[in-house]
Amino acid sequence: MKGLLIVVSGPSGTGKGTVCDVLLKETKNLAYSISATTRQPRAGEVDGKNYYFLTKDAFEEKIRENAFLEYANVYGNYYGTPLGHIEDRRNRGEDILLEIDTQGALNIMERCPDGVFIFLIPPSLQELERRIRGRGTESQDSLEKRLSSAEQEIRIGKKYQYVVVNDDISNAVHQIQAILLAEHCRNEKEYKIEEVLKK
Ligand code: ADP
Ligand code: 5GP
Repeated sequence: MKGLLIVVSGPSGTGKGTVCDVLLKETKNLAYSISATTRQPRAGEVDGKNYYFLTKDAFEEKIRENAFLEYANVYGNYYGTPLGHIEDRRNRGEDILLEIDTQGALNIMERCPDGVFIFLIPPSLQELERRIRGRGTESQDSLEKRLSSAEQEIRIGKKYQYVVVNDDISNAVHQIQAILLAEHCRNEKEYKIEEVLKK
């Protein structure tokens, strides 16, 4: 059975990275698609694990080579999903998780209508600000860009198939696992019917 293409988005600081890390550890057969970016690595981030950190020139070279499934300029830096072997891996039955912004997700909705689109939101805008400030990773300029686009970004969540509120990490992980289980059941319906009819 072909694996799912799962797209998770949400405003900066909502907890996408945290929730996706737990989800990846606790879910079988789920692999993370490592994005490329031109932003500077944060303390503790590892090239080839969190992101492929590229210069602007190297990123633009890859755009010319059509090496991305999608890319976008987010908060002043390039971010992109390497085409890599996403389709090969899905054809081998692996589920692939992309954690990308709304512009990239809307592109993928057009190109891959069989994707599963999940939008993660914070319990409130106040809590979003508390989380992003609490993370302590952003310059004043980057913090302002992220907070000022949050409200508008959250509204784009209405275009996604699913919205999950990240009030509590394990609640959010369980909800996403339930979505994946239901999507697998949906994917497998024809196969199950054919199998029964063969017997
Ligand atoms: P994003 O990847 O969406 O930008 P992060 O995963 O970096 O967000 O989370 C932002 C901050 O919020 C981190 O400090 C993280 O520990 C914290 N956080 C994430 N989820 C929750 C939650 N459910 N409750 C409280 N804090 C959380
Ligand atoms: P951050 O700098 O906080 O790691 O990410 C900033 C934003 O870029 C987040 O909304 C994140 O989901 C998004 N992002 C990360 N990788 C990609 C990608 O490959 N493509 C797109 N379009 N957005 C991405």
